Amino acid sequence: MNNQVLKLFSDIVSIQSVSADSKRHKEILEAADFIKKELLRLGCHVNLYQKENCPPLIIARKTVSSGVKTIGVYAHYDVQPEDPVDQWKTAPFKLTINNGKILGRGTADDKGHLIQTIAAFGNLIDKNKLTNNLIFIFEGEEEVGSGNFEELIKKDPLLKEIDVFYVMDFGMETSDQPEIFFGLRGLIAFELELITGKKDLHSGVYGNRVYNPINVLTGLLSKIKDQETGKILIPGFYNSLRKPTKKEWENLLKKKQVDKELKKEAEVFTTFTVDKKYPWLSTKIYPSFDLNGIIGGYVGEGVKTIIPASARAKFSFRLIENQTPDNVEKLVNDFVKKNIPGGVRFSLKTLGKLEPFYTNIDNRYVEITDKIFKDIFGRESLFTRSGGSIGAAATLSYMFKKPLILTGFTLADCNIHSPNENFDEGMFWKGIVAMERIFAQ
Ligand SMILES: [Zn+2]
Repeated sequence: MNNQVLKLFSDIVSIQSVSADSKRHKEILEAADFIKKELLRLGCHVNLYQKENCPPLIIARKTVSSGVKTIGVYAHYDVQPEDPVDQWKTAPFKLTINNGKILGRGTADDKGHLIQTIAAFGNLIDKNKLTNNLIFIFEGEEEVGSGNFEELIKKDPLLKEIDVFYVMDFGMETSDQPEIFFGLRGLIAFELELITGKKDLHSGVYGNRVYNPINVLTGLLSKIKDQETGKILIPGFYNSLRKPTKKEWENLLKKKQVDKELKKEAEVFTTFTVDKKYPWLSTKIYPSFDLNGIIGGYVGEGVKTIIPASARAKFSFRLIENQTPDNVEKLVNDFVKKNIPGGVRFSLKTLGKLEPFYTNIDNRYVEITDKIFKDIFGRESLFTRSGGSIGAAATLSYMFKKPLILTGFTLADCNIHSPNENFDEGMFWKGIVAMERIFAQ
């Protein structure tokens, strides 16, 4: 049995389904087709929803009867690009087991969870012990922002029947401490270009008389946040922010991260915080602003005293629930307009939006899952939040308003999005056992 599961895992890892690379769209289709065939073999009814050239959304269902629960499971089959390739110790698209780790691009994020889902389902079919209806939602464009997810999900009327969603795209810090996430930050990303004229100019002849787009751009961007505290200074930015409840606070304070650990993990020389009392919550319950890239002017060797004609920056905000990307988009547009001198031309483009995710964890599905996790991993679950964003979790949560459990079995050293991505071998097999029990709850 295990060999069969590993073969399936190895086959899917070997398909280079990198959604960011349009040249590998063929591989995206190949991966979707591979998964479809496997689900058909296990007796599912499978639909592939697609729009133009976007990756197919796979929705598969196995109906046991109409009087039982319907459990929905989300995972994604697209992966991040493999570069920098020279930093991989093994071939990125060849599943390799080394020292208790299953290595390969996409093993942790998120093909491992997808294979665990299929394996657990297959085991229950084999044992004739599937007692609930299952609906699988396997996305192919998570790594590029889930742009079509909401539209495609609406095409399947049967999703309304789902009683509880499991979003399997997360992990736990250590192998003996299961984690269930009740909140994620949202995201909005922008690109801003300023143009002051048609050509670069002599800074001696024109300095003090014409606007320098880099000066204007950096001046504007530095007004967005207080460098000391990280506080965002755009008027109205914090107006709708939801505050954690007392119970959420209790949960959040259970897991601390001291500065020393953060420095080691991030390999940085120093840190700062928006929350002096609970610094480790800075990434979890506060929005943040970061410049992601900036370009303009002369950066070659030696001196070139010019006033450039244009400058460009990419920047993004992480958002907390009740803030919406649409609302923040408007605030940022107003702020930029107000802070650029008249006559300086600019274009501000929104590159991507993801809603923040929040779900209430006071329900019996969370209790059942917590109990299953305790039996398998030895401890009660930690209920926590993450600073990252998963568009699908937010979309499923606000569209269907059903209990949603965001969890997973990868460990802190799984290197998602980085070279040497891996899924811990022990956690991979234990996770399948946990999923079996979840499906048979
Ligand atoms: Zn993922």
